[in-house]
Amino acid sequence: MRSVRARNESAWLLPNDGTRTNHRLRQDMRRFADEDEIDLVIVGCGAGGSVLLQRLARAGWRVAALDAGPFWDPDADWVSDEAGSHHLYWTDPRVIAGTDPVPLGSNNSGRGVGGSMVHYAGYTPRFHPSDFATCSLDGVGADWPLAYPDLQPYYAEIEQELPVAGEHWPWGDPHGYPHRPHPVGGNGEIFLRGARKLGITAKVGPVAIANGRFGNRPHCIYRGFCLQGCKVNAKASPLITHLPDALAHGAEVRADAMVTRVAVDERTGRVTGVHYLCGGAERFQRAAMVAVAGYSIETPRLLLNSSSGRFPDGLCNDFDQVGRYLMVQGAPQTAGRFGAEVRMYKAPPPEVSSEEFYETDPGKDYKRGFAIQTVSPLPITWAEHIAAQGHWGRALREYMSDYVHWSCLGALCEFLPLPGNRVMLDSEKDRYGLPVARFSYSQCDNDRALVRAAQSVMEDILHAAGADEVITIQRYAHLVGGARMAADERHGVVDGRCRSFAVPNLYITDGSVLPTQGSANPALTIMAVAARAADRLIAGSRGGTD
Ligand SMILES: Cc1cc2nc3c(=O)[nH]c(=O)nc-3n(C[C@H](O)[C@H](O)[C@H](O)COP(=O)(O)OP(=O)(O)OC[C@H]3O[C@@H](n4cnc5c(N)ncnc54)[C@H](O)[C@@H]3O)c2cc1C
Ligand code: SF4
Repeated sequence: MRSVRARNESAWLLPNDGTRTNHRLRQDMRRFADEDEIDLVIVGCGAGGSVLLQRLARAGWRVAALDAGPFWDPDADWVSDEAGSHHLYWTDPRVIAGTDPVPLGSNNSGRGVGGSMVHYAGYTPRFHPSDFATCSLDGVGADWPLAYPDLQPYYAEIEQELPVAGEHWPWGDPHGYPHRPHPVGGNGEIFLRGARKLGITAKVGPVAIANGRFGNRPHCIYRGFCLQGCKVNAKASPLITHLPDALAHGAEVRADAMVTRVAVDERTGRVTGVHYLCGGAERFQRAAMVAVAGYSIETPRLLLNSSSGRFPDGLCNDFDQVGRYLMVQGAPQTAGRFGAEVRMYKAPPPEVSSEEFYETDPGKDYKRGFAIQTVSPLPITWAEHIAAQGHWGRALREYMSDYVHWSCLGALCEFLPLPGNRVMLDSEKDRYGLPVARFSYSQCDNDRALVRAAQSVMEDILHAAGADEVITIQRYAHLVGGARMAADERHGVVDGRCRSFAVPNLYITDGSVLPTQGSANPALTIMAVAARAADRLIAGSRGGTD
């Protein structure tokens, strides 16, 4: 553990007096002037942006990250209340379209320092080696310009820094985790019992939740509020895993700073900084390099909103790649009722998962696969689950009063990257007068087949565990892609080190760059990709290969 601290001291920089925020570190933070040409300005301080910031600050770069939302203080800003946590989400308008539109505007992505990981569930699986070459292996999806071994060391590093707890992982590239698995609650026990009866392997983890004290971060207290922002500081998010160390090494985090466009020098074709709005004023931060890390919808939107004489159709969009191949995972959730009390809320929602169905099964009529995980919705989300079955009024109240008897599993189905699933600009404007994103999404037959298969397995598991009733809702999860990495500019926006093909000093380091998504939750991979990009940048600045 000493080696983790030597490269990322965040957990030790948090207070150990029962409070959650090192206010002194924030007050004493380095502050750059707009007219200072800093080495790199990062747009968005979430999963990808924060890792890049921390790595470069440690390497002595003059770096700042601008985030549209606040610099959260868990003690003051977060509440143990489902409805009261709504302010954590990006709820600015977005237009949706397509034959299978993806509902946005609630719990899809985050706004504020720490990004969506502030209220993510905390599952942190790795991608499988096959995810990096689905086109070659299975004839669907895309091949990445890098392979699993390129990311493997970064996976291991980030797993230590979060840190991740779980059993030895037998799937993909088999590996262990730095923290032992957490004890399992009622929902996890049901998953394990049903899976065992059917001969399906399920394992505890992998979750980015401290199991035991980690630096000054306390052990999880199993209160089940992971998706509302963990007030305890047990669940990992960049706010506590990477930003304290970044600040301690001279990085600036500029909160409540909405970037409106990336500026390009028409003569050189290089970016020169970012225009942003802060406190009602229009400002411009000069920078030698820009990295965009605003999430899969906001990153392509910002590039499209940054059109210029040099890039009339949007920054980096000469080959009409920006916004395309945006992916969501099909995420049906199946709940089962049990005679005995389950009390699924009395544990972290992420507990137990199975990747037994992750890879293409030649015996099936679909390609790629799905993962199954415990999900444990709190009461408001549970009410949505019930209302989706058509229950209302008295029937809804009866189901709600029966809440403690229900168990809930969720699947993540690997929906395929399709060129027509894309972000474009709409004629509608947001509160800053900027065109909002219009996200069009349609499923293909393979996607639908995966959802049917996943639902059937989840129902079988819950029945095998003894459920007397099962109900399923259809959902989506995890947006990635939209500015994908590729071998060349005709197939993507950035290369394997996250540098844009079109502009040599512009990088993209968030989930937008993922060409495929596997059936894994994406945050760990996003952080690993950003850590690798940071290494390449640092090597380049030191005269190595960038
Ligand atoms: C309910 C829920 C549960 C999830 N559970 C899991 C899970 O269990 N495991 C997992 O791996 N993943 C999970 N995820 C997904 C995961 O959190 C995201 O994939 C990941 O955080 C995306 O990282 P990112 O860097 O692309 O963007 P983000 O982490 O969202 O960061 C983007 C940041 O950019 C800022 N920003 C955007 N536009 C601008 C702009 N123009 N100017 C300035 N700032 C801007 C935003 O405020 C935000 O802070 C979950 C997501 C949700 C919504
Ligand atoms: S269950 Fe654990 S990780 Fe989740 S919110 Fe509670 S203390 Fe945090």
